Amino acid sequence: MSEAAYQEITDDQKAIIEMVHQFVDEQIIPNAEHYDHEDSFPEPIVEQMKELGLFGVTIPEEYGGMGLDLSTYELIIEELSRGWISISGVINTHFIGVYLLLQFGSEEQKQKYLPQMATGEMRAAFSLSEPEVGSDVQGIKTGAKKDGDHYVIDGQKMWVTNGLGSSLVFLLAKTDPQAEKAHMGMTCFITEKEPWVEENTGEYAGLTVPPKIKKMGYKGVESTELVYNGYRCPAENILGGEEAGLNKGFPQMMDALEVGRVNVAARGVGIAQRALELALRYSQERKTFGKPIANHQAIQFKLADMATKLEAARLVTRKAANMKDAGIRSDLEAGMAKLIASETGKECVEEAFRIHGGYGYSKEYEIERLYRDAPLLLIGEGTSEIQRMVIGKKLLQRHKI
Ligand SMILES: Cc1cc2nc3c(=O)[nH]c(=O)nc-3n(C[C@H](O)[C@H](O)[C@H](O)COP(=O)(O)OP(=O)(O)OC[C@H]3O[C@@H](n4cnc5c(N)ncnc54)[C@H](O)[C@@H]3O)c2cc1C
Repeated sequence: MSEAAYQEITDDQKAIIEMVHQFVDEQIIPNAEHYDHEDSFPEPIVEQMKELGLFGVTIPEEYGGMGLDLSTYELIIEELSRGWISISGVINTHFIGVYLLLQFGSEEQKQKYLPQMATGEMRAAFSLSEPEVGSDVQGIKTGAKKDGDHYVIDGQKMWVTNGLGSSLVFLLAKTDPQAEKAHMGMTCFITEKEPWVEENTGEYAGLTVPPKIKKMGYKGVESTELVYNGYRCPAENILGGEEAGLNKGFPQMMDALEVGRVNVAARGVGIAQRALELALRYSQERKTFGKPIANHQAIQFKLADMATKLEAARLVTRKAANMKDAGIRSDLEAGMAKLIASETGKECVEEAFRIHGGYGYSKEYEIERLYRDAPLLLIGEGTSEIQRMVIGKKLLQRHKI
């Protein structure tokens, strides 16, 4: 691990990060190629993550978790993403579900779900996007209508990470289509489902998971559509309970996206770190014109730029996490972290790819996988364009004349 990563972290954090670092080197990096090529779920790796307690990092001890903060979680995601960003994908939507429950869930909901989520026995997905809607969340069409003590949900969701293997989907649906402003008529439902089942039956009837979407990278972790067709969700499964949570879904989900952005930023830092490691090694092994390519100044400049941008992205990302933990408003910083770290991840991967010459184009080399994985970071949890919109808006709010 780079020395920089040790700065300003506590002894407890160091101990956890060393443990995860070793796990990544021994279990993830040597096996990622296999699961990536087959596009199969890395079950043995996920099982070990459960044993290490990684699904419960941010869940308080009283519910069976480790009770750690966002800053520690961020460090863990940097490490996991250094190994393979799909592994952080397995855990990320779960983390968002945990965050939603801790921030807005009722005590009954916390007691019902968090202990099983802490062990990883139950994993969570997070579903806003639809076939016609991504950035403009207020345009969702999925609706939920009250019928007795249930809500009947109809609609199609898109790009649901962990859409098949999850047991819970935190789903945004329209509950008041007549609301004066669209965002005031949306609710977050905790929809339960059978994990790894395409056609749900019995109490979960009306929820179908079509075959997983074929992707350029980010393999192993499935991204699916979800089709809700007459799915009956108990009113008590509205996040926070019906009384407190009805029509409050939009701000709840936007709050969760803010921590989600720190998480994607951590992924950018992790993949950039790995790209730098690969570039440093390859450039000292490969020779041209009688010397290692690392001795050519043009290559050293690439390495210098990569390391400098990586360090900047890491600091901004950790700052955003630290601020959130300290209870300081950090929407601006989370947007900045997501923007700089995802762009840095993509840039560092591209430079490492160039340094590998023709071999970077071969599936025999790890950088080929990183090259297919990195672009996702520019899209998920809000594109770079959307981050710039968020940053610009917040800047003007904070500096209004
Ligand atoms: C692998 C993968 C996993 C995902 N996982 C999930 C998940 O688990 N849950 C979930 O809900 N979603 C998920 N998503 C969806 C993701 O959040 C969206 O793809 C993303 O928000 C962008 O939405 P879109 O694809 O509809 O693009 P659009 O919103 O259609 O945008 C298209 C382009 O227009 C730009 N654009 C849009 N509006 C503006 C504007 N006002 N000004 C300037 N430019 C603009 C965008 O930046 C982009 O370049 C996932 C996506 C992928 C690819």
